[in-house]
Amino acid sequence: MLLTFDDGYIDNYTFAFPVLDELGVQGSFFIPGKTFTTYELLDVNKIHYLLASTDIHIILKDLLERMDHYRGNEYSYPSNEELFQEYAKSNRFDSKEVIFVKRMLQTVLPEELRNRIASELFVEHVGISEQQLAHELYMTAEQIRTLKHHGMHIGVHGYDHYWLGNLSKEKMQQDMQKALEIMDEFIDSRKWAMNYPYGSYNEDVIRYAKEHGACVGVTTEVRIADLEIDDVMKLPRLDCNDYPPKSENYKRMGQA
Ligand SMILES: [Zn+2]
Repeated sequence: MLLTFDDGYIDNYTFAFPVLDELGVQGSFFIPGKTFTTYELLDVNKIHYLLASTDIHIILKDLLERMDHYRGNEYSYPSNEELFQEYAKSNRFDSKEVIFVKRMLQTVLPEELRNRIASELFVEHVGISEQQLAHELYMTAEQIRTLKHHGMHIGVHGYDHYWLGNLSKEKMQQDMQKALEIMDEFIDSRKWAMNYPYGSYNEDVIRYAKEHGACVGVTTEVRIADLEIDDVMKLPRLDCNDYPPKSENYKRMGQA
């Protein structure tokens, strides 16, 4: 069994680490390079806090208005109706409205614009500074060092927590290169573990990772891994929400 902790949150350090340490169990911590070097919020967290702060219908309305406002010469993307049709699909955790807001701000809108809109919505609805929240949310380099000294495993989770499988090859490689430079202190550069943010990868991502020393990759596919059959660069995982009382997904086995 492998226990994975994604995104470098400070509660991994304050709550999970002492328990693991006491039990003598190794955890694997996958930390985006950006979190402990710039103290900017990852989009994934900006969006989490935004969604937790206000009713989803207010946020959705606000987002759609801004998408109409910015659509035109500077940024081009399909109409709100088309995008809603394509992306508003509920999953095992979220309603279709929540998924739509997440997809628009995580990967669908042009990067510069989605950062801009996410920041505008954050200021309006969350009401504290991103930097302040980043300091409260992420582990420091020193804390990551402590994990490592206590026998925990540290792995790669990109630099900017992008959907790597949706990026151009060039941008994907830039993000991976930055991640590897920053994580160099914590990983064995000839034999490290990759964790694809949002479970997003393609063959270029896998090739780049393997060529640069990755020996295993974990995804967000939901089932028990079978090491005899599964591709070692595409291992499925279970989320903590896949266990009772939330669900019984943990019983899933076999290839999807
Ligand atoms: Zn992540």
